[in-house]
Amino acid sequence: MNIRKTGYLKWFRVPTGDAMFPGETLALHAAQECSSKGRFYDEPTSSYRGEYERDRDRIIHSTAFRRLMYKTQVFVNHEGDLYRTRLTHSLEVAQIGRTVARAMRLNESLVEAISLAHDLGHTPFGHSGQDALNQCMQDYGGFEHNLQSLRVVDELEEKYADFPGLNLTWETREGILKHCSARNARELGSLGKRFLDRTSPGLEAQIVDMADSIAYNNHDVDDGVRAGLIGLRQLQEQKMFHQHFEIVKRRYAGLEGRRLIYEVIRGMINYVVTDLIDHTSAAVKALNPTCIDDIRNHKKSIAGFSAEVLDLHQGLKRFLHKNLYQHEQVRAMNERTKEIIGFLFERYMANPALMPIEFSRRDRSDNKTKARVVANYIAGMTDRFAIAEHERLN
Ligand code: MG
Repeated sequence: MNIRKTGYLKWFRVPTGDAMFPGETLALHAAQECSSKGRFYDEPTSSYRGEYERDRDRIIHSTAFRRLMYKTQVFVNHEGDLYRTRLTHSLEVAQIGRTVARAMRLNESLVEAISLAHDLGHTPFGHSGQDALNQCMQDYGGFEHNLQSLRVVDELEEKYADFPGLNLTWETREGILKHCSARNARELGSLGKRFLDRTSPGLEAQIVDMADSIAYNNHDVDDGVRAGLIGLRQLQEQKMFHQHFEIVKRRYAGLEGRRLIYEVIRGMINYVVTDLIDHTSAAVKALNPTCIDDIRNHKKSIAGFSAEVLDLHQGLKRFLHKNLYQHEQVRAMNERTKEIIGFLFERYMANPALMPIEFSRRDRSDNKTKARVVANYIAGMTDRFAIAEHERLN
C-alpha cells in the first residue's frame, strides 16, 4: 500500500461507527467521524467498522495493552491475584465511561478507545515507579506518563508495515494526552495547543478523565479492604462510604462481609455516575454547543460533579491518600520499587548493551537520546520483569 504522510487531513465517510440505538443520533457536540481531524498517515477506511472502533481494536491488539495485565495499580502485581491491575482498571474506566457517553449521546466508541489507552504509558510499580523514572530523567527532559502513553501509540508500538505506532485518530490521541507540561506541549503541534491556550479537550476525553477517578476511588476501597490495610469501621468515618453503608444496611439488615462492601461500592459508583451525567448534561445545556469545538474552546471543563458530590468524591480521595496510598506497607513497597527503577536506569545508561538489541541499537548519539531509549525500555516493563531484571543485573 502506498501510504501518504498527510498530517491531519479531514476525511468524509458515512458515519457507521457513530450509530447508537436505532433512531438515536449523537449529540451535536459529540465527536463525529465526519468532522474528525483524521489520522497522521492516510489510510483507507473500513467498510464495517467506524474509525474510533478501529482505534479501540488497535489498542486492544497492542503489546502495551497486554502488558497492563502485569502492572501495578496500587498493589504490586505479584502481591495477590485479586487486586486491580492497570488492565482491569482500564476496563472499569471503559465501562463507566461508556455508560456516561451513551446516556449523554456522546461517541461511545471514542470513549472506549481513550479509556483502554489512557494508562498505556505507565511504568511498572504504579505511581512510585513513575516518580522514580521521572527522577532519573530530570536532566534529560523528565518522564510524564500521559506523554508516554502518546509515545507508545505514536512511536513505540511496532505493528504495521506502513507506519510506526498505531496511527490513531487525532481525537483518541487528544484524549490520551490528559496532562502535559508547557515545555512538552510546544513540541506537539496541534495536539499540545490546548495546554498553552488553556482550553479543553472534547467531552469524550473529559468523560474518560472523570471515569478514571470514579473507577480508582471505588476499586481502591475494595482492594484496600481486601488487603486488610483499611477496615470497615475506619471507612465509616468517611462521609460518602458511611451514607451508602447506612442505605445498604437499611435495605439488607443481615448483610455482611464482601457482599456488604460490594453493595456499598456499587451504590457509591451509581451515585457519582448519576450525578456526573445530570450535572454535566445541565452544563452542556447552559452552554448550548453546536459542535465539538464549542466544547474545546471553553476554558473550563464541562464534565463534572455537583458541588455536593465533588466534596464527597474528594473526601474519599483524601481518605484513600492518607490511609491507603500512604500506608506504611504500601510505602515500604514504593521505596523498594524506587530502588529497582533507579538501579536499572543506571545500569542501562552505563551499558546499553544490557538491553535487548532492538533497544540497544537505537539512536543514542547523545546522552539525552540515550536516556529516552532507556526510559522507554523501563517504562514498558511489567512489575515482575523489572524485578527479574534487577535480580539478573545485581
Ligand atoms: Mg487510570
